[in-house]
Amino acid sequence: MAADVRIGMIDGDGIGPEIVPVAVAVAGAAAARVGLDVEWVPLSMGQSAIANHGDPLPEQTVAALDGLDCWVLGPHDSAGYPEEFRGRLTPGAIIRKRYGLYANLRPARAYPGVRAVRPDIDLLIVRENSEGLYADRNMAVGSGEFMPTPDVALAVGVITRAASERIARIAFEQAQTRRGRVTVVHKANVLAMTTGLFRDACFDIAREFPDVAVDEQHVDAMAAQLVRRAGDFDVVVTENLFGDILSDLAAELAGSLGLAASINASDVKAMAQAAHGAAPDIAGQDRANPVALIESTAMLFDWWARRFDDERGREVASLMRTALGDALSAGEATPDLGGSVGTAEFGRRILARIAAT
Ligand code: ATP
Repeated sequence: MAADVRIGMIDGDGIGPEIVPVAVAVAGAAAARVGLDVEWVPLSMGQSAIANHGDPLPEQTVAALDGLDCWVLGPHDSAGYPEEFRGRLTPGAIIRKRYGLYANLRPARAYPGVRAVRPDIDLLIVRENSEGLYADRNMAVGSGEFMPTPDVALAVGVITRAASERIARIAFEQAQTRRGRVTVVHKANVLAMTTGLFRDACFDIAREFPDVAVDEQHVDAMAAQLVRRAGDFDVVVTENLFGDILSDLAAELAGSLGLAASINASDVKAMAQAAHGAAPDIAGQDRANPVALIESTAMLFDWWARRFDDERGREVASLMRTALGDALSAGEATPDLGGSVGTAEFGRRILARIAAT
């Protein structure tokens, strides 16, 4: 009989082969408890794919992703690839572009038991992921950065009403499932046309959600406000570059990059991908923190539940989060959080908690 859901699992580079199996095992155990039959589809990406197929993102992987709704992507260490692959788009960028994964959801939440700069932080950054100033995303042909002379460099920033409205809708929908507040972050006092259009589009969409409170911040003020009163913010919606920067700030305020989860989604496909990189400095040492990827995978099940209107996805995510939160509250943590539990052992302890639920 066909599985309820087929999910790609892609180890990737660096700490990927350590943290992806942990996230998959935790999700698999939670799904089994809930009676959701998951088929995990292993796919190749990164250094091992170069060795076996001559490409960091082989055709076989792309063909398989074409047929899947969602997958868990480990980190890639593109800077460590052989010279010939270094100038190219990274595997993550190719995948985001191919499937139009326009919504990057990045929560920042302090866990009980984990030391945080702002223990009251519990927010979700909804980052527009397809345009803005990112040179690899905003042109059909050529790069969004160019140099008319060796001493002059220009960058094109693209903001469209359509992309702004669709990301705003995601932000307001998310707020309905949280504390009902959206903060629109822009810089319309200086970038009046581009980020002004983004702001106006968000406020237009706000009218469709009278149950959600909305306010706005300039991005520079927002950086300061996050440090001062992170706990006051619920959902933050912003354009690509601002979202990238603010989400790293928020992750640090919540405790560690190793806790920074994210998903990249469209209306029909989603990818769980921790916000951190491949961490080659600690790869293979059983020291990597799998929390970010476990939470990212839980978010993937939330997305799936919404997409297919199947409550079991939300139950899987909830079981995963409860076990994770309980472990961290009990002081079980990897070295980056000051603990002494190894990656694999941390995974086993979460599994034991799910089994005891
Ligand atoms: P990228 O550009 O791919 O994001 P990077 O070099 O900027 O990569 P990371 O690979 O995320 O950043 O590593 C930054 C630092 O954070 C490193 O010291 C790394 O060991 C640490 N780090 C990142 N992720 C984790 C994790 N999951 N667990 C423990 N430490 C981590």
